[in-house]
Amino acid sequence: MTDLENFRREARAWLETNCPPEMRRPVASEADSCWGGRRFRFQSEAQRLWMVRMGERGWTVPTWPKEYGGAGLGKAQAQVLRQEMRALGCRSPLDSFGIWMLGPALLQYGSEAQKREHLPKIARGEIRWCQGYSEPNAGSDLASLQTRAELHGDHFVVNGQKIWTSYADQADWIFCLVRTDFGAKKHTGISFLLFDMESPGVSTRPILLISGKSPFCETFFDNVKVPAENLVGELNGGWTIAKYLLTHEREMIGGIGERATARPLGRFAADAMGLDEDGRLADGGLRSDIARFEIDELAFRCLMERTGDRARRGEGDPAFSSALKYYGAELNKRRYELMMSAAGSDGLEWEGERSRDGALARTWLRTKANSIEGGTSEVQLNIIAKRLLGLPGA
Ligand SMILES: Cc1cc2nc3c(=O)[nH]c(=O)nc-3n(C[C@H](O)[C@H](O)[C@H](O)COP(=O)(O)OP(=O)(O)OC[C@H]3O[C@@H](n4cnc5c(N)ncnc54)[C@H](O)[C@@H]3O)c2cc1C
Repeated sequence: MTDLENFRREARAWLETNCPPEMRRPVASEADSCWGGRRFRFQSEAQRLWMVRMGERGWTVPTWPKEYGGAGLGKAQAQVLRQEMRALGCRSPLDSFGIWMLGPALLQYGSEAQKREHLPKIARGEIRWCQGYSEPNAGSDLASLQTRAELHGDHFVVNGQKIWTSYADQADWIFCLVRTDFGAKKHTGISFLLFDMESPGVSTRPILLISGKSPFCETFFDNVKVPAENLVGELNGGWTIAKYLLTHEREMIGGIGERATARPLGRFAADAMGLDEDGRLADGGLRSDIARFEIDELAFRCLMERTGDRARRGEGDPAFSSALKYYGAELNKRRYELMMSAAGSDGLEWEGERSRDGALARTWLRTKANSIEGGTSEVQLNIIAKRLLGLPGA
């Protein structure tokens, strides 16, 4: 038996023993996600156990080095682990901006002390992070941000406002872009800071959405003192880190189109609409739309795998994350349009136990934001046109 086959056998046995049955049921809504952190209220003991067990094994971040809370797995082993988790229907043990965004940036740009301090807590789900990038006048044009940080000896003093800060009211720490040089060109006066959301002077105000929920906030900083050692990378060198982090954010959002955590679409539609006497979906039009979607989804999954392989060989182009983000967001929006078509008027139920408090309708509305968050589709198309296709700018 090869090492990889051994690893597969061991991984499967470990997952079968350690993944609680409840954590093998399909995710029905965002509420089923485990975010960890100091304030997180677990939905069940099974959810807590699953996060803790995977965190202790380093499998929440399988490819991170062991000294930073990972399992030090190689690419092939990590792929086997993903395959085995998918085969058993295991849920993600931990969803986290720390894992998807900050972790990769710290691995690349953080000091040794920052890596040792923050990465293991991310891996074990102990600290939940939020992202302080966008401001009222700096979204697509992010480099125009005006939140200021002034260095006073051993600490910065931060003043300003962020907006659309997802889960700021539930996060423990924030990774934040601040302006530290006011005379410099806009891209060169930005720094990347980390600080505790419980620091005096930090406050948040939730923003209510069409879905009836408030997944994000306005975040205010009023003379917040941040230790100078919480600066990541060079002073005024934050833009490079910000961009690097964005490529990971975009790949993560693109992955929404690929991560089939919900039931396969065909099965969902069959349950909702029933089958004809030949055992096929009764609605021929929807049947072909779903078939087309499933083919596109499969092709996208292959593209994600290929992109991952190329990146690991050092051949990836960071701008390709824009293509993945663009297409993955469109795919996810299409998935939920099709689910709504299959569910018919039942899909519009907004409250009550039968619909799990309108989980489908609310998630469908939420998907509309996929083509805005992490940079809008128009901005991704601009990047694809300029950087990947080499077309001239306007
Ligand atoms: C669900 C969700 C979660 C988010 N979470 C976070 C978070 O946690 N932290 C955070 O910092 N931010 C977050 N954001 C903010 C997000 O990054 C911004 O909304 C996004 O970058 C767009 O910025 P904006 O809203 O200011 O729109 P604008 O930049 O004002 O854009 C308005 C419109 O103009 C278009 N446009 C702008 N510039 C161009 C151009 N050059 N060419 C063509 N069209 C253009 C845009 O495509 C858009 O349609 C989140 C947003 C959403 C929807």
